[in-house]
Amino acid sequence: MEKQPVARHIPVSEPLLGGNEEKYVLECVRSSWISSIGEFIPEFEVKFAKFCGAKYGVAVMNGTAALQLALAALGIKNGDEVIVPDLTFVATANAVMHAGAKPVFVDAEQGTWNIDTEKIMATITKKTKAIIPVHLYGHPCDMGAIMKVAKEHNLFVVEDAAEAHGAEYKGKKVGSFGNVGCFSFYGNKILSTGEGGMCVTNDKKLSERMHFLKDHAMSPERKYFHPEIGYNFRMTNVQAALGLAQLEQIDKFLVAKRKNAEIYNSLLKGVKGLTLQHEMPWAKSVYWMHSILVEDDFGCNRDELMKLLKAEGVDTRPFFYPMHQLPMYSEGHSDSEFPVASELARKGINLPSSVKLTEKDIEYVCNAIKEAK
Ligand SMILES: *Cc1c(COP(=O)(O)O)cnc(C)c1O
Repeated sequence: MEKQPVARHIPVSEPLLGGNEEKYVLECVRSSWISSIGEFIPEFEVKFAKFCGAKYGVAVMNGTAALQLALAALGIKNGDEVIVPDLTFVATANAVMHAGAKPVFVDAEQGTWNIDTEKIMATITKKTKAIIPVHLYGHPCDMGAIMKVAKEHNLFVVEDAAEAHGAEYKGKKVGSFGNVGCFSFYGNKILSTGEGGMCVTNDKKLSERMHFLKDHAMSPERKYFHPEIGYNFRMTNVQAALGLAQLEQIDKFLVAKRKNAEIYNSLLKGVKGLTLQHEMPWAKSVYWMHSILVEDDFGCNRDELMKLLKAEGVDTRPFFYPMHQLPMYSEGHSDSEFPVASELARKGINLPSSVKLTEKDIEYVCNAIKEAK
């Protein structure tokens, strides 16, 4: 029988703008408050921080700027070292470089795919100033272990929670453990403002310092007096309008993400050659990107599977390249130093994970995976 032409296209991720997004953005346009002053910004900061279980929010233009701002406010500078996971999106390491400091990479662990907390200790030197745990693909890091190491060695903790809005470690939301929690609101993130980001913190002084630095370090008392070199990392009122409308729906988004994961796991359970995403007993993952590992005994390799799925109209993404494989970070490193991250990166796929997915969509994706063998 001849094959039917592909009728479907299932993207990896797309935002759902089904709430008050249009209404709030229209308010910005009609009132002409479209720039970085406007009432949606402080409201979004307060409400998003509260959602994270943190006291203060500092809205910025994207998640990378949130990381840069946090490091700048903590005084990370030239000559300092900052510990980051080898397996992450490049922005985590780049933010350290932009602060003038050196990222020091730590391998991933098998269970969570996050930074291996047992391997952190060996990388700490006199120059180490901070750790940036990344809650990869929505699964929280072992924050108990990380906060313990940080305390023992007097290190700052900046959580990269760009992929994990609402994820919990032992019932407490990520972003609220470290000195600062950094979030992204990029188009494919759990909550989206197009481009956008936020730093959350429980430290009032630190939040004031971040507000100051993100706005050209302008003196709060004297207009156009700048005692330091700051940044323009401001978020616009239009972004905040979107963010506020998205935040009103976040509980619904998180339920949908976990439901997707449940359906995927039940349909793919027991398929030979696939390793499914784990959830630790102490964790509540938000499954930002529902992911699988294609093991060597699956029947075809990861890249072949991605191609076959594409032909069926199913978009996927490979895992991030580990940092030590990128040209600017590779010097002196090899895969043998980061065996787990290297293996995960070689085998990992992000499957379609939108909150818009129906059960039928996920069945279609899973059938396509099973037929690819
Ligand atoms: C998306 C992301 C960022 C950066 O966020 P942008 O808003 O795209 O600048 C940082 N870290 C991780 C882990 C991310 O996934």
